[in-house]
Amino acid sequence: MHIVIPAERLAGERRVAATPDTVKKLVGAGHVVTVERGAGLHAAIADAAYADVGAGLSEQRQTLLAQADVALVVHMPEAADLEALKPGAALVGMLAPYGNPLLPRLAARRISAFALELLPRTTRAQSMDVLSSQNNIAGYKAVLLATQFYPRFMPMLMTAAGTVKPARVLVLGVGVAGLQAIATAKRLGAVVEAYDVRPATREQVESLGAKFVEVPMTDEEKAAGGGVYAREMSADFQQRQNELLAKHARNADIVIATALIPGKPAPRLVTASTVAEMKPGSVIIDLAAESGGNCELTRLGEAYQSDRGVHLVGYANLASLLAADASSLYARNLHAFLGLLLAPEGLKIDLADELIAATLLTHQGEQRFGAAPSATA
Ligand code: NAD
Repeated sequence: MHIVIPAERLAGERRVAATPDTVKKLVGAGHVVTVERGAGLHAAIADAAYADVGAGLSEQRQTLLAQADVALVVHMPEAADLEALKPGAALVGMLAPYGNPLLPRLAARRISAFALELLPRTTRAQSMDVLSSQNNIAGYKAVLLATQFYPRFMPMLMTAAGTVKPARVLVLGVGVAGLQAIATAKRLGAVVEAYDVRPATREQVESLGAKFVEVPMTDEEKAAGGGVYAREMSADFQQRQNELLAKHARNADIVIATALIPGKPAPRLVTASTVAEMKPGSVIIDLAAESGGNCELTRLGEAYQSDRGVHLVGYANLASLLAADASSLYARNLHAFLGLLLAPEGLKIDLADELIAATLLTHQGEQRFGAAPSATA
Protein backbone atom coordinates (compact mmCIF):
# COMPACT_ATOMS: atom_id res chain seq x y z
CA MET A 1 0.00 0.00 0.00
CA HIS A 2 1.11 3.54 -0.68
CA ILE A 3 0.66 5.77 2.36
CA VAL A 4 1.18 9.50 1.93
CA ILE A 5 1.58 12.34 4.40
CA PRO A 6 0.88 15.81 2.98
CA ALA A 7 1.99 18.93 4.83
CA GLU A 8 -0.82 20.63 6.77
CA ARG A 9 -2.09 23.84 5.19
CA LEU A 10 -4.47 25.22 7.84
CA ALA A 11 -3.23 28.55 9.23
CA GLY A 12 -1.49 28.05 12.57
CA GLU A 13 -1.32 24.27 12.26
CA ARG A 14 2.14 22.97 13.17
CA ARG A 15 1.47 19.27 13.58
CA VAL A 16 2.09 16.43 11.14
CA ALA A 17 0.24 13.13 10.86
CA ALA A 18 3.24 10.77 10.86
CA THR A 19 6.63 10.76 12.57
CA PRO A 20 9.81 8.83 11.76
CA ASP A 21 8.73 6.38 14.48
CA THR A 22 5.40 5.52 12.80
CA VAL A 23 6.84 5.72 9.27
CA LYS A 24 9.52 3.20 10.25
CA LYS A 25 6.82 0.77 11.42
CA LEU A 26 4.82 1.20 8.20
CA VAL A 27 7.87 0.73 5.99
CA GLY A 28 8.88 -2.27 8.09
CA ALA A 29 5.45 -3.78 7.44
CA GLY A 30 6.08 -3.55 3.68
CA HIS A 31 4.25 -0.32 2.82
CA VAL A 32 5.53 2.50 0.65
CA VAL A 33 5.46 5.84 2.49
CA THR A 34 5.88 9.27 0.89
CA VAL A 35 6.01 12.50 2.87
CA GLU A 36 5.59 15.98 1.41
CA ARG A 37 8.83 17.92 1.86
CA GLY A 38 8.73 20.17 4.90
CA ALA A 39 5.68 18.44 6.39
CA GLY A 40 7.37 17.83 9.74
CA LEU A 41 9.42 20.98 10.00
CA HIS A 42 7.19 22.81 12.51
CA ALA A 43 6.96 19.65 14.59
CA ALA A 44 10.76 19.52 14.84
CA ILE A 45 11.11 16.72 12.26
CA ALA A 46 13.55 17.28 9.40
CA ASP A 47 12.87 15.72 5.98
CA ALA A 48 16.06 13.69 6.43
CA ALA A 49 14.62 11.97 9.51
CA TYR A 50 11.79 10.57 7.38
CA ALA A 51 14.19 9.60 4.59
CA ASP A 52 16.44 7.82 7.10
CA VAL A 53 13.65 5.40 7.99
CA GLY A 54 12.81 4.67 4.37
CA ALA A 55 10.19 7.26 3.39
CA GLY A 56 10.19 8.92 -0.01
CA LEU A 57 10.01 12.72 -0.13
CA SER A 58 7.95 14.67 -2.63
CA GLU A 59 7.58 18.32 -3.52
CA GLN A 60 4.64 17.71 -5.84
CA ARG A 61 1.61 17.83 -3.55
CA GLN A 62 -1.00 16.93 -6.18
CA THR A 63 1.08 14.02 -7.52
CA LEU A 64 1.71 12.82 -4.00
CA LEU A 65 -2.03 12.82 -3.21
CA ALA A 66 -2.87 11.13 -6.51
CA GLN A 67 -0.60 8.21 -5.56
CA ALA A 68 -2.20 7.62 -2.17
CA ASP A 69 -3.97 4.44 -1.21
CA VAL A 70 -4.13 6.04 2.22
CA ALA A 71 -3.59 9.73 3.04
CA LEU A 72 -2.85 10.59 6.67
CA VAL A 73 -3.75 14.12 7.72
CA VAL A 74 -4.30 16.25 10.80
CA HIS A 75 -7.16 18.33 9.31
CA MET A 76 -9.55 17.94 6.42
CA PRO A 77 -7.57 18.93 3.30
CA GLU A 78 -8.73 21.72 1.01
CA ALA A 79 -11.23 20.94 -1.76
CA ALA A 80 -8.50 21.00 -4.44
CA ASP A 81 -6.56 18.34 -2.53
CA LEU A 82 -9.60 16.09 -2.33
CA GLU A 83 -9.95 16.28 -6.12
CA ALA A 84 -6.42 14.89 -6.44
CA LEU A 85 -7.16 11.73 -4.41
CA LYS A 86 -8.02 8.68 -6.47
CA PRO A 87 -11.39 6.92 -6.11
CA GLY A 88 -11.18 4.21 -3.45
CA ALA A 89 -8.41 5.96 -1.51
CA ALA A 90 -8.73 6.26 2.27
CA LEU A 91 -8.37 9.59 4.08
CA VAL A 92 -7.69 9.39 7.82
CA GLY A 93 -7.53 12.31 10.24
CA MET A 94 -9.48 14.74 12.40
CA LEU A 95 -11.89 15.66 9.63
CA ALA A 96 -14.27 17.92 11.63
CA PRO A 97 -17.33 15.95 10.52
CA TYR A 98 -20.13 18.01 12.07
CA GLY A 99 -21.70 20.15 9.35
CA ASN A 100 -18.68 19.76 7.10
CA PRO A 101 -19.61 21.01 3.60
CA LEU A 102 -16.94 18.83 1.93
CA LEU A 103 -18.58 15.50 2.82
CA PRO A 104 -20.82 15.29 -0.29
CA ARG A 105 -17.74 15.93 -2.44
CA LEU A 106 -15.76 13.21 -0.63
CA ALA A 107 -18.63 10.80 -1.25
CA ALA A 108 -18.87 11.79 -4.92
CA ARG A 109 -15.13 11.21 -5.28
CA ARG A 110 -15.63 7.71 -3.76
CA ILE A 111 -13.12 8.42 -0.97
CA SER A 112 -13.34 6.37 2.22
CA ALA A 113 -12.93 9.12 4.80
CA PHE A 114 -12.41 8.40 8.51
CA ALA A 115 -12.90 11.08 11.18
CA LEU A 116 -11.12 9.84 14.29
CA GLU A 117 -12.91 12.37 16.53
CA LEU A 118 -15.88 10.00 16.25
CA LEU A 119 -14.16 6.99 17.80
CA PRO A 120 -16.15 5.61 20.72
CA ARG A 121 -14.47 6.22 24.10
CA THR A 122 -13.96 2.51 24.73
CA THR A 123 -10.99 0.54 26.00
CA ARG A 124 -10.41 -0.96 22.54
CA ALA A 125 -10.23 2.51 20.95
CA GLN A 126 -8.00 4.02 23.64
CA SER A 127 -4.74 3.75 21.67
CA MET A 128 -6.40 5.56 18.75
CA ASP A 129 -8.17 8.24 20.79
CA VAL A 130 -7.07 11.48 19.12
CA LEU A 131 -9.34 13.63 21.28
CA SER A 132 -7.67 12.34 24.43
CA SER A 133 -4.11 12.68 23.16
CA GLN A 134 -4.63 16.19 21.83
CA ASN A 135 -6.89 17.54 24.58
CA ASN A 136 -4.43 16.37 27.19
CA ILE A 137 -1.85 18.63 25.55
CA ALA A 138 -4.34 21.50 25.23
CA GLY A 139 -5.16 21.29 28.95
CA TYR A 140 -1.47 21.48 29.86
CA LYS A 141 -0.76 24.33 27.45
CA ALA A 142 -3.81 26.28 28.63
CA VAL A 143 -2.31 26.64 32.10
CA LEU A 144 1.09 27.68 30.77
CA LEU A 145 -0.63 30.18 28.51
CA ALA A 146 -2.50 31.58 31.51
CA THR A 147 0.82 32.20 33.27
CA GLN A 148 1.89 34.43 30.35
CA PHE A 149 -1.03 36.79 30.98
CA TYR A 150 -1.35 36.46 34.75
CA PRO A 151 0.68 39.23 36.36
CA ARG A 152 1.49 37.29 39.54
CA PHE A 153 3.17 34.09 40.77
CA MET A 154 1.29 30.79 40.69
CA PRO A 155 2.73 29.24 43.91
CA MET A 156 2.70 30.62 47.40
CA LEU A 157 6.10 32.14 48.17
CA MET A 158 7.51 33.17 51.52
CA THR A 159 10.24 35.70 50.90
CA ALA A 160 12.16 38.19 53.02
CA ALA A 161 10.02 40.86 51.38
CA GLY A 162 6.82 39.19 52.44
CA THR A 163 4.49 36.37 51.50
CA VAL A 164 2.96 35.91 48.05
CA LYS A 165 -0.42 34.25 47.93
CA PRO A 166 -0.95 31.26 45.61
CA ALA A 167 -3.05 31.77 42.47
CA ARG A 168 -6.63 30.50 42.62
CA VAL A 169 -7.50 28.52 39.50
CA LEU A 170 -11.03 27.49 38.51
CA VAL A 171 -11.28 24.73 35.89
CA LEU A 172 -14.63 24.37 34.10
CA GLY A 173 -15.22 20.98 32.48
CA VAL A 174 -13.35 17.97 33.81
CA GLY A 175 -12.77 15.82 30.73
CA VAL A 176 -9.31 14.99 29.47
CA ALA A 177 -8.25 18.65 29.01
CA GLY A 178 -9.72 19.74 32.34
CA LEU A 179 -7.99 16.97 34.29
CA GLN A 180 -4.63 17.85 32.77
CA ALA A 181 -5.26 21.55 33.48
CA ILE A 182 -5.95 20.71 37.14
CA ALA A 183 -2.82 18.57 37.39
CA THR A 184 -0.64 21.21 35.71
CA ALA A 185 -1.97 24.09 37.84
CA LYS A 186 -1.44 22.00 40.98
CA ARG A 187 2.15 21.27 39.93
CA LEU A 188 2.74 25.00 39.61
CA GLY A 189 1.48 25.47 43.15
CA ALA A 190 -1.94 27.00 42.52
CA VAL A 191 -5.02 26.37 44.65
CA VAL A 192 -7.43 24.66 42.27
CA GLU A 193 -11.16 24.09 42.17
CA ALA A 194 -13.10 22.51 39.33
CA TYR A 195 -16.63 22.05 38.10
CA ASP A 196 -18.26 19.54 35.75
CA VAL A 197 -21.88 18.75 35.17
CA ARG A 198 -21.06 15.05 35.53
CA PRO A 199 -21.12 14.25 39.26
CA ALA A 200 -18.79 11.29 38.59
CA THR A 201 -15.90 13.72 38.05
CA ARG A 202 -15.89 14.76 41.72
CA GLU A 203 -13.69 11.81 42.66
CA GLN A 204 -11.21 12.55 39.85
CA VAL A 205 -11.01 16.21 40.86
CA GLU A 206 -10.43 15.34 44.50
CA SER A 207 -7.85 12.68 43.68
CA LEU A 208 -5.77 15.43 42.04
CA GLY A 209 -5.93 17.49 45.22
CA ALA A 210 -8.44 20.04 43.90
CA LYS A 211 -11.83 21.05 45.30
CA PHE A 212 -15.02 20.10 43.46
CA VAL A 213 -17.60 22.83 42.93
CA GLU A 214 -21.07 21.37 43.10
CA VAL A 215 -24.26 22.83 41.65
CA PRO A 216 -27.19 21.30 43.54
CA MET A 217 -29.04 18.96 41.14
CA THR A 218 -32.43 17.28 41.06
CA ASP A 219 -32.43 13.47 40.78
CA GLU A 220 -33.51 13.81 37.15
CA GLU A 221 -30.60 16.09 36.33
CA LYS A 222 -28.16 13.76 38.07
CA ALA A 223 -29.41 10.90 35.90
CA ALA A 224 -29.11 13.01 32.72
CA GLY A 225 -25.56 14.09 33.50
CA GLY A 226 -24.38 10.70 34.65
CA GLY A 227 -23.48 9.27 31.23
CA VAL A 228 -20.13 9.47 29.51
CA TYR A 229 -21.02 12.78 27.90
CA ALA A 230 -22.87 15.66 29.47
CA ARG A 231 -26.17 16.52 27.85
CA GLU A 232 -27.53 20.00 27.53
CA MET A 233 -29.23 21.09 30.73
CA SER A 234 -32.52 22.90 31.44
CA ALA A 235 -32.73 26.71 31.66
CA ASP A 236 -33.45 26.41 35.37
CA PHE A 237 -30.32 24.33 35.95
CA GLN A 238 -28.28 26.73 33.87
CA GLN A 239 -29.38 29.64 36.00
CA ARG A 240 -28.38 27.86 39.23
CA GLN A 241 -25.12 26.86 37.58
CA ASN A 242 -24.32 30.37 36.34
CA GLU A 243 -25.01 31.93 39.73
CA LEU A 244 -22.72 29.50 41.52
CA LEU A 245 -20.00 29.76 38.89
CA ALA A 246 -20.19 33.56 38.97
CA LYS A 247 -19.45 33.40 42.70
CA HIS A 248 -16.44 31.13 42.18
CA ALA A 249 -15.18 33.08 39.17
CA ARG A 250 -15.17 36.27 41.27
CA ASN A 251 -12.72 34.61 43.66
CA ALA A 252 -10.58 33.08 40.90
CA ASP A 253 -7.41 34.51 39.43
CA ILE A 254 -7.42 32.17 36.46
CA VAL A 255 -10.34 30.36 34.80
CA ILE A 256 -9.52 27.49 32.43
CA ALA A 257 -12.74 26.69 30.54
CA THR A 258 -12.85 23.31 28.79
CA ALA A 259 -16.55 22.32 28.80
CA LEU A 260 -17.78 20.79 25.55
CA ILE A 261 -20.79 18.88 24.29
CA PRO A 262 -19.80 16.80 21.22
CA GLY A 263 -21.40 18.11 18.02
CA LYS A 264 -23.16 21.00 19.80
CA PRO A 265 -22.28 24.59 20.69
CA ALA A 266 -20.21 24.84 23.88
CA PRO A 267 -22.21 25.52 27.07
CA ARG A 268 -22.11 29.14 28.23
CA LEU A 269 -20.67 29.03 31.74
CA VAL A 270 -19.16 32.51 32.16
CA THR A 271 -21.49 35.38 31.33
CA ALA A 272 -20.53 38.97 30.51
CA SER A 273 -21.80 40.08 33.92
CA THR A 274 -19.58 37.47 35.63
CA VAL A 275 -16.54 38.79 33.73
CA ALA A 276 -17.49 42.31 34.82
CA GLU A 277 -17.23 41.20 38.45
CA MET A 278 -13.89 39.38 38.11
CA LYS A 279 -10.68 40.87 39.50
CA PRO A 280 -8.53 43.11 37.28
CA GLY A 281 -5.55 41.07 36.02
CA SER A 282 -7.46 37.79 36.19
CA VAL A 283 -7.33 35.52 33.16
CA ILE A 284 -9.85 33.37 31.29
CA ILE A 285 -8.41 30.78 28.89
CA ASP A 286 -11.35 29.50 26.82
CA LEU A 287 -10.46 26.14 25.28
CA ALA A 288 -14.02 25.92 23.94
CA ALA A 289 -13.51 29.01 21.74
CA GLU A 290 -13.77 27.00 18.52
CA SER A 291 -17.18 25.69 19.57
CA GLY A 292 -18.54 29.13 20.44
CA GLY A 293 -16.80 29.56 23.80
CA ASN A 294 -17.68 28.82 27.43
CA CYS A 295 -17.34 32.53 28.08
CA GLU A 296 -19.78 34.92 26.49
CA LEU A 297 -17.03 37.46 25.72
CA THR A 298 -14.50 35.10 24.12
CA ARG A 299 -13.30 36.12 20.66
CA LEU A 300 -12.03 33.18 18.63
CA GLY A 301 -8.31 33.43 17.88
CA GLU A 302 -7.85 36.57 19.99
CA ALA A 303 -6.51 37.64 23.36
CA TYR A 304 -7.69 40.96 24.72
CA GLN A 305 -8.38 42.72 28.02
CA SER A 306 -11.88 43.70 29.09
CA ASP A 307 -12.46 47.30 30.17
CA ARG A 308 -12.19 46.05 33.78
CA GLY A 309 -8.77 44.48 33.06
CA VAL A 310 -9.71 40.78 32.72
CA HIS A 311 -7.64 38.94 30.09
CA LEU A 312 -9.85 36.93 27.73
CA VAL A 313 -7.97 34.37 25.64
CA GLY A 314 -9.77 32.51 22.85
CA TYR A 315 -6.87 30.97 20.96
CA ALA A 316 -7.72 27.94 18.85
CA ASN A 317 -5.77 24.73 18.53
CA LEU A 318 -3.53 24.88 21.60
CA ALA A 319 -2.28 21.33 20.97
CA SER A 320 -0.52 22.64 17.88
CA LEU A 321 1.66 24.87 20.08
CA LEU A 322 3.32 21.71 21.40
CA ALA A 323 3.64 20.40 17.87
CA ALA A 324 6.42 17.87 18.42
CA ASP A 325 4.76 15.90 21.21
CA ALA A 326 1.29 16.47 19.78
CA SER A 327 2.42 14.99 16.45
CA SER A 328 4.20 12.12 18.11
CA LEU A 329 1.08 11.08 20.05
CA TYR A 330 -1.30 11.81 17.16
CA ALA A 331 0.85 9.77 14.74
CA ARG A 332 0.73 6.83 17.16
CA ASN A 333 -3.06 7.14 17.34
CA LEU A 334 -3.23 7.02 13.54
CA HIS A 335 -0.82 4.10 13.34
CA ALA A 336 -2.98 2.14 15.79
CA PHE A 337 -6.09 2.92 13.70
CA LEU A 338 -4.33 1.81 10.50
CA GLY A 339 -3.99 -1.58 12.16
CA LEU A 340 -7.74 -1.97 11.47
CA LEU A 341 -7.47 -0.96 7.82
CA LEU A 342 -4.29 -2.37 6.35
CA ALA A 343 -4.44 -6.01 5.25
CA PRO A 344 -1.87 -7.89 3.13
CA GLU A 345 -4.32 -7.91 0.21
CA GLY A 346 -5.04 -4.15 0.41
CA LEU A 347 -7.45 -1.87 2.24
CA LYS A 348 -9.86 -3.76 4.47
CA ILE A 349 -12.96 -1.77 5.46
CA ASP A 350 -15.00 -4.00 7.73
CA LEU A 351 -18.31 -2.22 8.27
CA ALA A 352 -19.16 -4.68 11.04
CA ASP A 353 -16.26 -3.33 13.12
CA GLU A 354 -17.70 -0.71 15.50
CA LEU A 355 -14.63 1.51 15.27
CA ILE A 356 -14.79 1.53 11.48
CA ALA A 357 -18.55 2.04 11.45
CA ALA A 358 -18.33 4.94 13.93
CA THR A 359 -15.65 6.87 12.06
CA LEU A 360 -16.42 6.19 8.38
CA LEU A 361 -17.92 9.38 6.91
CA THR A 362 -18.06 8.45 3.23
CA HIS A 363 -17.56 5.13 1.45
CA GLN A 364 -18.19 3.77 -2.04
CA GLY A 365 -20.02 6.90 -3.12
CA GLU A 366 -22.27 7.05 -0.03
CA GLN A 367 -22.27 9.81 2.60
CA ARG A 368 -22.74 7.85 5.83
CA PHE A 369 -22.45 10.76 8.28
CA GLY A 370 -24.34 14.04 8.43
CA ALA A 371 -26.36 13.55 5.21
CA ALA A 372 -29.79 15.21 5.12
CA PRO A 373 -32.50 12.53 5.43
CA SER A 374 -34.00 11.70 2.02
CA ALA A 375 -37.61 12.71 1.29
CA THR A 376 -38.71 9.06 1.23
CA ALA A 377 -37.00 8.13 4.51
P1 NAD B 1 -15.28 16.81 26.24
O1 NAD B 1 -14.02 17.47 25.73
O2 NAD B 1 -16.31 16.44 25.26
O3 NAD B 1 -15.95 17.75 27.34
C1 NAD B 1 -15.19 18.24 28.41
C2 NAD B 1 -15.99 18.18 29.66
O4 NAD B 1 -17.00 19.19 29.63
C3 NAD B 1 -16.73 16.87 29.92
O5 NAD B 1 -16.22 16.29 31.10
C4 NAD B 1 -18.18 17.29 30.05
O6 NAD B 1 -18.86 16.56 31.06
C5 NAD B 1 -18.02 18.74 30.46
N1 NAD B 1 -19.25 19.56 30.29
C6 NAD B 1 -20.17 19.56 29.31
N2 NAD B 1 -21.16 20.44 29.57
C7 NAD B 1 -20.84 21.04 30.74
C8 NAD B 1 -21.45 22.04 31.54
N3 NAD B 1 -22.60 22.61 31.20
N4 NAD B 1 -20.84 22.39 32.68
C9 NAD B 1 -19.68 21.83 33.05
N5 NAD B 1 -19.05 20.87 32.36
C10 NAD B 1 -19.62 20.48 31.21
O7 NAD B 1 -14.87 15.56 27.12
P2 NAD B 1 -13.69 14.52 26.93
O8 NAD B 1 -12.46 15.02 27.54
O9 NAD B 1 -13.65 14.15 25.50
O10 NAD B 1 -14.23 13.32 27.81
C11 NAD B 1 -15.57 12.86 27.69
C12 NAD B 1 -15.76 11.61 28.49
O11 NAD B 1 -15.10 10.52 27.86
C13 NAD B 1 -15.22 11.65 29.89
O12 NAD B 1 -16.11 10.93 30.70
C14 NAD B 1 -13.95 10.92 29.82
O13 NAD B 1 -13.55 10.39 31.07
C15 NAD B 1 -14.34 9.85 28.84
N6 NAD B 1 -13.17 9.26 28.19
C16 NAD B 1 -13.08 7.91 28.15
C17 NAD B 1 -12.01 7.31 27.54
C18 NAD B 1 -11.89 5.82 27.49
O14 NAD B 1 -12.41 5.14 28.31
N7 NAD B 1 -11.25 5.30 26.50
C19 NAD B 1 -11.01 8.08 26.97
C20 NAD B 1 -11.15 9.47 27.03
C21 NAD B 1 -12.25 10.05 27.64
